[in-house]
Amino acid sequence: MSRTIHLSPPDVGPLEESYLIAALRSGWVAPVGPDLEAFEREVAARVGTGGAVAVSSGTAALHLGLLGVGVGPGDAVVVPTLTFVATANAVRYTGARPVFVDCDPRTGNVDVALLADLLHGLRADGERVAAVVPVDMFGSCVDYGALLPVCAEADVPVVEDAAEALGASHRGRPAGSFGRVGALSFNGNKIMTTSGGGMLVSDDAELLARARYLATQAREPVPHYEHRETGWNYRLSNLLAALGRAQLVRLDTMIARRRQLRDRYAKLFAPLPGVRLLGEEDTASNCWLTSIVVDPEQAGWQAAELGAHLAGLGIETRPVWKPMHLQPVFAGARSLLTGTAERLFAHGLTLPSGSALDESQVTRVLTAIDGFLTARTGVSPA
Ligand SMILES: *Cc1c(COP(=O)(O)O)cnc(C)c1O
Repeated sequence: MSRTIHLSPPDVGPLEESYLIAALRSGWVAPVGPDLEAFEREVAARVGTGGAVAVSSGTAALHLGLLGVGVGPGDAVVVPTLTFVATANAVRYTGARPVFVDCDPRTGNVDVALLADLLHGLRADGERVAAVVPVDMFGSCVDYGALLPVCAEADVPVVEDAAEALGASHRGRPAGSFGRVGALSFNGNKIMTTSGGGMLVSDDAELLARARYLATQAREPVPHYEHRETGWNYRLSNLLAALGRAQLVRLDTMIARRRQLRDRYAKLFAPLPGVRLLGEEDTASNCWLTSIVVDPEQAGWQAAELGAHLAGLGIETRPVWKPMHLQPVFAGARSLLTGTAERLFAHGLTLPSGSALDESQVTRVLTAIDGFLTARTGVSPA
């Protein structure tokens, strides 16, 4: 049996190898160094922000971003229920409470009208809402044209969770640049990777300087290790930054490859009733992950049945995120829900989407899906 095809494996090759070896040979193996500074400049230029701070994970970037806009103990922070747990965990690290809001069925991104209702409700109850954290789901930007005025009107700062969205844009503006501060992730499964890492991006130089200080154990700029506050050890290493610089060179090629794959899925499912691609209308997505949403009544089959069929053939799929309001760790958290996130969780399936998949692997996936559909519907869509 041939090897398992994973959902979104790292896409690294000779360029990454040469950058990493050059960094190693330069002697800058200790935490900071020229690749780290260059990586920050290059990512800030790509996102279009005044600056950036490279850190050890996207979660660390979110944590520092929340601290940067003044989130603290007892505050409420609005987070979409349909996200990866890191968004809500970072809120908890500050001592604040996440409040969950449901999503738009077409994209899985935050439902902005519902967010406006929630902000009004929280204010009416005397809650201090210290931040809103929109998540650019699977690499598709939130409708910031609608969201930013709602948050401005409520006078609540935006921390953009763009962990999944580097390279995407909304009305020509890059993901990561929409809030007071944005958080990116370079985890192993993301659009580009440093094996593990993240970055804060912002126009606010003061916020970034403070984040850099807090990420370095809050060490005062004196030689004798002076500390007046509790900090964290959150900086990215120079070696990993070198890996990130090579990935950044290849980012557009990797996005194009993922888009090609999404187009092929779109073509395969197009003739079938009751199946759509999540967020397909967004042509400015970075196509990080492609998910289908199945209406079992119309389609005559369930998303989970296709998932089980593919698993049997060594092909990895995943449900769309399990909503945060259903997670035991957040039991009892306040939420404003419509049932959309639960429906996407029940009927969504994320398909292999990685830019590293070669042509024979892609053929294997498409053939396996075609086999399932032919058996279930009696028609081969291919
Ligand atoms: C991956 C991810 C993160 C966290 O990034 P790490 O680098 O894994 O810490 C945060 N938010 C979302 C939405 C993510 O997908």
